Amino acid sequence: ATPTSIMVGSGRAAELGVLFRQSEALQRLRDADVVAFDKTGTLTEGKPALTDLILDDDFSHDEVLALVAAAESRSEHPIALAILAAAEKAGLTLPAVDHFVSDPGHGVTATIGERRVQVGSARMMRDFDLSDFAPTLEQLADQGKTPVIAAVDSKIAAALVVADVVKPTSKAVIARLHAMGVRTAMISGDNKRTAAAIAAQLGIDEVHAEVLPADKVSAIKALRQRNRVVAYVGDGINDAPALAEADIGIAVGTGTDAAIESADVVLLGGDLKGVLDALTISRATMRNIW
Ligand code: ADP
Ligand code: MG
Repeated sequence: ATPTSIMVGSGRAAELGVLFRQSEALQRLRDADVVAFDKTGTLTEGKPALTDLILDDDFSHDEVLALVAAAESRSEHPIALAILAAAEKAGLTLPAVDHFVSDPGHGVTATIGERRVQVGSARMMRDFDLSDFAPTLEQLADQGKTPVIAAVDSKIAAALVVADVVKPTSKAVIARLHAMGVRTAMISGDNKRTAAAIAAQLGIDEVHAEVLPADKVSAIKALRQRNRVVAYVGDGINDAPALAEADIGIAVGTGTDAAIESADVVLLGGDLKGVLDALTISRATMRNIW
C-alpha cells in the first residue's frame, strides 16, 4: 500500500471508531486466516448475574450466600461481582474476611472467623464428590451458564450459577467473518460445556476452553501452527499477553488498560462490528483503493 493509502485508511478507520496504533497492523490484518475471541467481556457483556443457587441440605441459603459473597469480596472477577450483587440485593450483611487467597483461573479461598470458604470451578473442587450436582450443572452449562462450587469447611455447601448475555452484534459479526472467508475461534477460561454452548449459539468454528490465564499465549501459538495469520480480540488483563502474541491484537475499548496497551488495534466502545470495519478497511487499503 502507498503511504497515502495507509494514511487515508487509518483516517477512515478512526472515523468508524477503530484505532490502528501501528500501520503494520493495517497492512497485516487483511491476511488474517482466523480471528480468535476471548469470551467473557468480549463476545459477552461480561456482567454476569447470579441465576441459581443450588443448596446442600445441611446449609441455609442466606448463610451460604453471605459466606460466599464475603469470600468473593476481594476478587474483581465478574463471577465475584455477580455473587456480591446478589448478596446485596438479598440485604445480607457480610462477615469479615480474615484471610484471602485468589487462584487465577480457578477461584478463591477465604478464612472467615473459624470457617474456611472455597469458591471455584469444578476443576478447583475436583477432590470433592460433586456427583449430586453434576447432572443439574451440566444441564445449566449446556445453556451457556457458568457454575461454580462453594465448600465450607471442606464440605460442599452449594453450586452457584451465573449467566452472562452475548453482545447483540456478536452473532452477526461471526457470520460476516465467515462470509469474508475468515475462520473464527473462542479462547476461554470457562468450563468446556459452557464455552461450547456459547460458541454454538454464535456459530464459532473452534473452541479452546478451560484455558488458564497463563496459557492463552499457548492457545494463540497453537492456532498459528494451523493458520498463517492469527488475530485475537480480547478485553481483560489476562488477554494482554495473547494480544501481544497474536499477529494482530485487537482490544475492546471498554476493556482494561493492560489489554489496550498490548493491542495493535483498539475498538472504541464494546461493539465487535469494529472488527469487520478494521478488516474491510485493511483490505481496501492494501488494494490502494483510496
Ligand atoms: P474467564 O474469565 O474466561 O471465565 P478465568 O480464567 O478468569 O476465565 O476463570 C476460569 C474459571 O475459574 C471460571 O469460569 C470459574 O469457574 C473459576 N473462577 C475464577 N475466578 C473465580 C472467582 N473469583 N470465583 C469463583 N470462581 C472463579
Ligand atoms: Mg474477557
